[in-house]
Amino acid sequence: MGKVIWAALIGVALVIGGAYVVLTSQGSSADDRLQSGDSVSDTTQDSSNSESSNSPADQQSQETDKPGDSAASSDGGSSSEGTEKTDSNSDASAGSTDNGQAANGQSSGSIVTVSDPNDIGVLVNKTHRLPEGYAPDDLVYPDVAFIFDDKVDKRKMRREAADALKELFDAADKDGIELAGVSGYRSESRQKTLFDNYVKRDGEEAAVRYSARPGFSEHQTGLAMDVSGKDGKCAAEDCFAGTDEANWLADHAQEYGFIIRYPEDKESVTGYKYEAWHLRYVGVDLAELIHAGGLTLEEYSAQHETS
Ligand SMILES: [Zn+2]
Repeated sequence: MGKVIWAALIGVALVIGGAYVVLTSQGSSADDRLQSGDSVSDTTQDSSNSESSNSPADQQSQETDKPGDSAASSDGGSSSEGTEKTDSNSDASAGSTDNGQAANGQSSGSIVTVSDPNDIGVLVNKTHRLPEGYAPDDLVYPDVAFIFDDKVDKRKMRREAADALKELFDAADKDGIELAGVSGYRSESRQKTLFDNYVKRDGEEAAVRYSARPGFSEHQTGLAMDVSGKDGKCAAEDCFAGTDEANWLADHAQEYGFIIRYPEDKESVTGYKYEAWHLRYVGVDLAELIHAGGLTLEEYSAQHETS
């Protein structure tokens, strides 16, 4: 009798133990996937405070994060993006910039939907969002090196920006600086996938501090590209700042129509910490003005807002 009871007890213990192991391992694998996957970088991009997160993009969930994305993605890549996470101040500041900019689009609360998302100078940040479902219709693959081989969407930029990026990379090459693309275009649904994963992992309050909500990422405009040196070292990471490549970009990007979109010490204006790698195409004229004035796109937009 005693033996039977013991056997039963041991059987129960084994079942419970097994279930525990299964549960735990599921948990950790999910976590790993998130961490390695697309993290943040793009994240970087954009988050906005207000909007209820998911409105816009409840669409497809097809864009699962393929592992491949990760690395390079900058915005998603694992390694890379991990860092962007710390955009701490982002939220705080964003508010300050907005005032006045409502003229650029339809305002709803503190969030403005930009009226002309195809404008090369469009302002997209935590308070200025793209129209729901917006996607540029002239995306192409820039003819430049990337830190990954796959021919995927994150290579893409709008045609004019892609052409300018090639000129920029060619000019750098002549100066002995070898650049590579890390992450460009990101669709709203892709951003939603990323953002939702961060929320699952860290909670919404934490996620909005380092990741953009869908519709609020500058990468969705097709005018942004994260850039690193050819070896991909420090891609979309803080350690890219101060490298020869970063210094060259800071000195010359504007000549080809690009600005360092999130400059050092401008967190309170842009909503994002310094990102030496995130280039935004705005056209040569605007880029030269912004560079010469030591401005951000927010400050320039506020100054030139009419009506
Ligand atoms: Zn970026």
